[in-house]
Amino acid sequence: MDLSYTAEELAFRDEVRAFLAEKLPKDMSDKVRRGENLGKEGHELWHSILNNQGWLSYSWPKEFGGAEWNAVQRHIFDDECAAAYAPRIVPFGLSMLGPVLHKFGSKEQQDHYLPRILDGTDWWCQGYSEPGAGSDLASLKTKAVRDGDNYVVNGQKTWTTLGQYADWIFCLVRTDPDAKQQEGISFLLIDMNTPGIEVRPIVLLDGTPEVNEVFFDNVRVPVENLVGEENKGWTYAKYLLTHERTGIAGVGFSRAGLDALKRVARVETANGRPLIENPLFAARIAQVEIDLMAMSTTNLRIISQASAGQAPGVESSMLKVKGTIIRQEINDMMRRAVGPYAMPFASETVEGDNDPIGPDYAGPVSAQYFNNRKLSIFGGSNEIQRGIIAKVKMGG
Ligand SMILES: Cc1cc2nc3c(=O)[nH]c(=O)nc-3n(C[C@H](O)[C@H](O)[C@H](O)COP(=O)(O)OP(=O)(O)OC[C@H]3O[C@@H](n4cnc5c(N)ncnc54)[C@H](O)[C@@H]3O)c2cc1C
Repeated sequence: MDLSYTAEELAFRDEVRAFLAEKLPKDMSDKVRRGENLGKEGHELWHSILNNQGWLSYSWPKEFGGAEWNAVQRHIFDDECAAAYAPRIVPFGLSMLGPVLHKFGSKEQQDHYLPRILDGTDWWCQGYSEPGAGSDLASLKTKAVRDGDNYVVNGQKTWTTLGQYADWIFCLVRTDPDAKQQEGISFLLIDMNTPGIEVRPIVLLDGTPEVNEVFFDNVRVPVENLVGEENKGWTYAKYLLTHERTGIAGVGFSRAGLDALKRVARVETANGRPLIENPLFAARIAQVEIDLMAMSTTNLRIISQASAGQAPGVESSMLKVKGTIIRQEINDMMRRAVGPYAMPFASETVEGDNDPIGPDYAGPVSAQYFNNRKLSIFGGSNEIQRGIIAKVKMGG
């Protein structure tokens, strides 16, 4: 196994760097660096810049308008974007629904929905979780009952990220209440403007309404919005989840976060000396850097296997657990580095319309710390991932 880049890969990296230097708007990367929210317009602008370059759909097959990059190219792109403080690509349409429609959608669904994901016509959100159905997703209760050419949907979804911006939601619904849990579920595409849908914000620890509750009260959904076969939705749902965990290690984000932490630790002081010279703090930084280097190598190893055609299995669980621990540790050290300036936490600072209290870099630190508690919960909680690792690797 060779973990160094080939000449072509290095040339590709240079191309990505040149693109980011030219096309990533400075005010946008400044916002990302300061941890401010971009809002719907900001995300849409970044998507359109990437789409004009043909890179928004980088993981999609060519037949659906994708760039069809291999695992190494995707890794290089993600790393370079994180280093340049580019916004993350909103995943719901592009890396969740897209692959499901490529594999299981009808020709009509592919022709209609896929171009609209790329040109930004439709903003999608994910309607999987419900109160009482998170880790145990198959116990979901939102039901869809066939009535002529429609399904009538009743129930509730929750934790729906950025659902307040969404034009459409892909939902798991129960179509056969008598079948075994996994066998009575279907995958339905629902227009968020249909009468009977109500979106209520949930304000997170960082003060932002990033997630929502979505209520369905006799919502009529045309039967042609069913993906694949009725009661086979669990298969499509699981397929989507393998894509949700792709790139979850977040090596690039951690590297950028660690660089920022070191910059701050050179400026902030403890007992009259730069924090980075404090033996305890320096040891913590060193430990997280070692962990990050080790995880980065594991990540490259898995990418190398993927390039050789092996699908990642339990390894994506390992990367998820380790990657999120590292990111949360960096957030925690940043919070400690800015000390009392992390205390007067004002959620307005992440909206970018208030001057931070204390130095420029201190404003969003608390918000990022609180917001990133989510990393070990969503995409399958870290406890669930540990269970998978134990079962597969240790036969637990
Ligand atoms: C910020 C955020 C955004 C999200 N966005 C979306 C979204 O857009 N769409 C969507 O559908 N969902 C979304 N989710 C939901 C997310 O997928 C769930 O929160 C997650 O699956 C956990 O489910 P739960 O919250 O119901 O917790 P529970 O499943 O009730 O778990 C509670 C605790 O028990 C632990 N636990 C549960 N079962 C086991 C077990 N078998 N072994 C060991 N420990 C266990 C869990 O790890 C957790 O610590 C989001 C969540 C968050 C926090």
